[in-house]
Amino acid sequence: MKHEIFEHDIIIVGAGGAGLRAAIAAAEHAEHLSIALISKVYPMRSHTVSAEGGAAGVMRDNDSEDTHAKDTIFGSDFLADQDAVEILVREAPGELIQLEHWGCPWSRDPDGRISVRPFGGMTVNRTVFAADKTGFHMLHALFQTSLKYDAIVRYDECFVTSLLTDDGRVRGVTNLNLYTGKVQIVMAKSVIICTGGGGRAFPFTTNAAIKTGDGMALAYRAGVGLKDMEFVQYHPTGLPGTGILITEASRGEGGWLINKHGHRYLQDYGLGPATDTPTHRKMELGPRDILSRCHMQEHQKGNTFEGPYGHYLHLDLRHLGEELIDSKLPFVRELTRNYVGIDPVVDPIPVRPVVHYMMGGIHTDTDGKTSLEGLYAAGECACVSINGANRLGSNSLTELLVFGARAGRSAAEFALNQPSPLKSPIDLLAGDEQKRLDDNFLKKEGGTEKVAGLRQEMQIAMEDGVGIYRNEGDMRKTCDTLQSLRERFANIRIEDDTSIFNTERTVALELDFTLDVAETIANSALQRTESRGSHNRIDYPERDDENYLKHSLAFRAPGGPPKIEHFPVTITRWEPEERKY
Ligand SMILES: Cc1cc2nc3c(=O)[nH]c(=O)nc-3n(C[C@H](O)[C@H](O)[C@H](O)COP(=O)(O)OP(=O)(O)OC[C@H]3O[C@@H](n4cnc5c(N)ncnc54)[C@H](O)[C@@H]3O)c2cc1C
Repeated sequence: MKHEIFEHDIIIVGAGGAGLRAAIAAAEHAEHLSIALISKVYPMRSHTVSAEGGAAGVMRDNDSEDTHAKDTIFGSDFLADQDAVEILVREAPGELIQLEHWGCPWSRDPDGRISVRPFGGMTVNRTVFAADKTGFHMLHALFQTSLKYDAIVRYDECFVTSLLTDDGRVRGVTNLNLYTGKVQIVMAKSVIICTGGGGRAFPFTTNAAIKTGDGMALAYRAGVGLKDMEFVQYHPTGLPGTGILITEASRGEGGWLINKHGHRYLQDYGLGPATDTPTHRKMELGPRDILSRCHMQEHQKGNTFEGPYGHYLHLDLRHLGEELIDSKLPFVRELTRNYVGIDPVVDPIPVRPVVHYMMGGIHTDTDGKTSLEGLYAAGECACVSINGANRLGSNSLTELLVFGARAGRSAAEFALNQPSPLKSPIDLLAGDEQKRLDDNFLKKEGGTEKVAGLRQEMQIAMEDGVGIYRNEGDMRKTCDTLQSLRERFANIRIEDDTSIFNTERTVALELDFTLDVAETIANSALQRTESRGSHNRIDYPERDDENYLKHSLAFRAPGGPPKIEHFPVTITRWEPEERKY
C-alpha cells in the first residue's frame, strides 16, 4: 500500500509541557530545521493542563541549589542520579522566569515578588504557582509561544503506532490519522518521545484517560530499556470514586489530614508535632509515599470512614477560611463542589491514596538521549532520573521544562549533522506496520475478548500485586495474569469498523501499549527484594543499599517476561543516609 509520507528534521511525539518545551528549544536552536509536533489530542488537552500545585525552583535568598538538590535526592530515597538533579536545580530558576516572559501569570506576593509555597518533602518554600491552575497556565504559555515558530508543524489528533527503525537508528514514526483513519509515515533525522505517564495501568488514578504509557511502549518495542519501572507514586489525596486530585498545595497552604475520630493521625507515625500549620517535611507536608502508607495503616486500624467507594479520610481546610481558599485554592473549591457536592469552606473533603505518577520511564542521559541513535525522550515518559524511588511534588513540571529544553536542543544538534533520511527502506518498514495494524486493529475480524474487560482485569491485577504494599506471592500472580492477558489480547473483538474517530480502535491500541508498560512495572518490582521509596515490600521491609542501590532496566523479550538488568546510581556529593523525617 502507498502511504502518505511527510518529511521533517525532527519529530516530537507528544504536545504536552515536555513536547512543547522541546519544540520551542529545537526551533530556537537552529532556525531552518523543520519540526513535526504530533499529538493524539489537541495540545491543550494534554495532561499537563491539569497540574494544579506548582513548579519547584530556587527563587529566594533563604534557599539554595544545594538545598533543592538535597531535598530531591533525600525524597528519592537516594535512587535519583545526582548529576541529573544538579542540572535540574541549576536550570530551574531560568526556565521558570523564561516562562513568565512567555506569558505565564505566576501568583505574586503583595510586594510584587513571585510567590513561593511549601510542598511535601521540600525544606524551604520554593514552589511557584499560578493559583491552583499551574499546569493550565504553563501549557497555555508554552502553546502560544510555539505558535510563533513557522518551523513547528502540528499533527493534531494523530496517534503514533510505531517507531520506524533501520540500521540501528530511528528514521521516523507511523501514525494513524484519527480523523481519516489512514496510516501515515512521518520521517525525520531525530525523534523525541514526550508522551507522558501511564497511570491508566491502574484502576484508580488522577491521570487523564489518555495516559496509557504509549511512548514508553514505543521505545521498549524498539529495544530501548525502561528504567526503574517498579516505582509508581500514589498521591495521598484523591477524591474517592473519580480519583480527581486534590492538590498537595491544599496541605502546603495549611490543610490537615484527620481520621474518623477527628485526630491528626500523622503525629502517630513519627511525622509530628501537630502544629497549627504543617511545617516543612513534617505532618501533612511529609512525602507522598509515606503519607499514602499512613493512610493504609489507619485503614487497617479501623480509623477510616467507609463510603460508597471504599475507605477514606478527611482533608480539612475549614480553618483556612474562605478568603484564602478562594485566592490560593479556587480550583479545589470548584472540584469538590462539582464532584462531591461539598464546600471545603464548611465541610472536610473525603480523600484516599490514588495512583498519580510514574517515576520510571525511558532510560535517557541528561540530554534526553536514549540508547537508540537519534531517539530522545523527556517529561514523564522519560527517566533521567531525578525522581528515583519517590518524586517530590512540584519537581516534574520543572523537570519537563529543563529536560524538555535539553532534549530539544540535543535532538536539533543531532539532526543538523545528519544527511537527509533515506526513503527506500521506509516503505517496506511501514508496510510491515500497516499489516500489523490491519490484522490486529483496523481490519480485525472475529475475536471474542472485549477490550474494556481485559483492561479492567489488568488494572485490578496491578492494584492487587503492585499497589502501595507489595509481596512476592501477589506480584508473581500479577506477572502471570499479565502474561495471560497479553495472550488473550490477540483475540480481541473490535465491532466498530468505521474509520473516522474510531475510539474503539484507539483504546485497543492504547491497551496494547499499557500491557507492555504493566509487565515492566510488575516484573521490575518482583526482582527488587528491598523497600525503597514508593516500592514497599512487606517481605523485605528494609532498604538494602548493598544490593539495590542501583537502577533497574527492563528490556523486551518477545514471548516472555521482560529481561531485567541493573546499573549503578550516579552519586556526586550526597552519600546515602537513612531517610527519616
Ligand atoms: C492531576 C495532576 C496534577 C499534577 N500536578 C502537578 C503539579 O502541581 N506539579 C508538578 O510538578 N507535577 C504535577 N503533576 C505531574 C505533571 O503534571 C506531569 O508529570 C507532566 O505534566 C507530564 O507532562 P508531559 O509533557 O511529560 O506529558 P503530558 O502532558 O501527559 O503530554 C503527553 C502528550 O503525548 C501525547 N501522546 C501520548 N501518546 C501518544 C501517541 N500514541 N501518539 C501521539 N501522541 C501521543 C498526548 O497527546 C500529549 O500531547 C500532576 C499530574 C496530574 C495527573
